[in-house]
Amino acid sequence: MKSEDLYKESKKYLPGGVNSPVRAYKPYPFFVDKGKGSKIYDVDGNEYIDYCLAYGPLVLGHSHERIVENISEAIKKGTTYGAPSEKEIILAKEVINRVPCADMVRFVNSGTEATMSAIRLARGYTSRNKIVKFEGAYHGAHDYCLVKSGSGAATLPDSLGIPEDTTKNTLSVPFNDEEAIKQLIKNEGNNIACIIMEVVMGNIGCIQAKKGYLEFLRKITEENNILLIFDEVITGFRIAKGGAQEYYNIKPDLVTFGKIIGGGFPMGALAGKKEIMEMIAPSGSVYQAGTFNGNPISVIAGITTLNLLDNKFYKKINEKGDYLRSNIKNIIEDLDLNLNPVGLGSMFQIYFNPNEVLDYSDAKNSDSEKFFLYFKELLKNNVFIPPSQFECNFISIKHSKEDLDFTSDSIEQSLKKVFK
Ligand SMILES: *Cc1c(COP(=O)(O)O)cnc(C)c1O
Repeated sequence: MKSEDLYKESKKYLPGGVNSPVRAYKPYPFFVDKGKGSKIYDVDGNEYIDYCLAYGPLVLGHSHERIVENISEAIKKGTTYGAPSEKEIILAKEVINRVPCADMVRFVNSGTEATMSAIRLARGYTSRNKIVKFEGAYHGAHDYCLVKSGSGAATLPDSLGIPEDTTKNTLSVPFNDEEAIKQLIKNEGNNIACIIMEVVMGNIGCIQAKKGYLEFLRKITEENNILLIFDEVITGFRIAKGGAQEYYNIKPDLVTFGKIIGGGFPMGALAGKKEIMEMIAPSGSVYQAGTFNGNPISVIAGITTLNLLDNKFYKKINEKGDYLRSNIKNIIEDLDLNLNPVGLGSMFQIYFNPNEVLDYSDAKNSDSEKFFLYFKELLKNNVFIPPSQFECNFISIKHSKEDLDFTSDSIEQSLKKVFK
């Protein structure tokens, strides 16, 4: 069956025809046959250079040889145990060695579980109930954080089924706005358990903190005994060996991981200071548990991945990012378009917006309808990016110079078509 028919069929059995909302777009999404390296192939016979990369995990590209090899071996020894195994220690040590704030780790199954557990831990540790998040930041699909969160939720700022009793404790403020935080802490400081943030806002495009903003947040949270949680589900192991906290040289109290840490398999983690982490059950009284926590297959894929991500790797992948971003910048200038290319490391996006984008409301001012046309043109030109202005595009180590040049060409053709 072709994608169009599969989608029709799928809608009968799966709500909206997909298992996560961003995957559905009009008139129908392509259905995947396979992925290999920098490419993804659909059932209709098309090949695309992939910059969605499963929304972040595939920093090594699809189906990396080493992961396939190690997983195939590991799977013969069982797929899950419900008892500890040594591999979990190896991965924990790897995370702790790389990540400045990490003394101890708890492995969970997704980014959602990681942030949910980190927030519970922050509340348990501080004996405070309120949490602060930034407008447009996405921390997974759980009740605490689905308030003004990015991605699909940018147009649906809330969800049915979440009690107001839950979200009344979730305070949202604009990103990059020192006054907003000062005011909030002045009024509510003694009730705030944590500020949770995406250091680079990757679920509303790609927004970086203004110079000095992270330092400001670190200082004001410390002064008010509020925990600072970096949600590094995207940035962790992507923008530097130790993630965004290494890249920007700011140490949070807790950090959450997902996406890359499972090497393409489902996994998440929270990590942080020993004193805080030891409050997690069974050593402490903050409950956290999971049948598949520390799943041996995910853990082996994670170890295999992190072992490949050394300094040379980051130099190489970031150079790819610099190269593509500079091509994009030149294309936009040559075509004399009022667009705003952004990104860092192996992350990039084009805001269809003439102005600088510093927060959620700036991002929402972008022309997302034109962006969607651009997305569809790119598909016709054999390049796959996430179908939304409010996602980030990713590069893998498997993207060759040839891929990047082909992509630059496709971007140029697509922008010409959209803005003709
Ligand atoms: C993807 C994402 C999550 C949620 O992770 P899942 O594994 O999809 O549950 C949380 N935080 C950020 C910053 C993310 O990008």
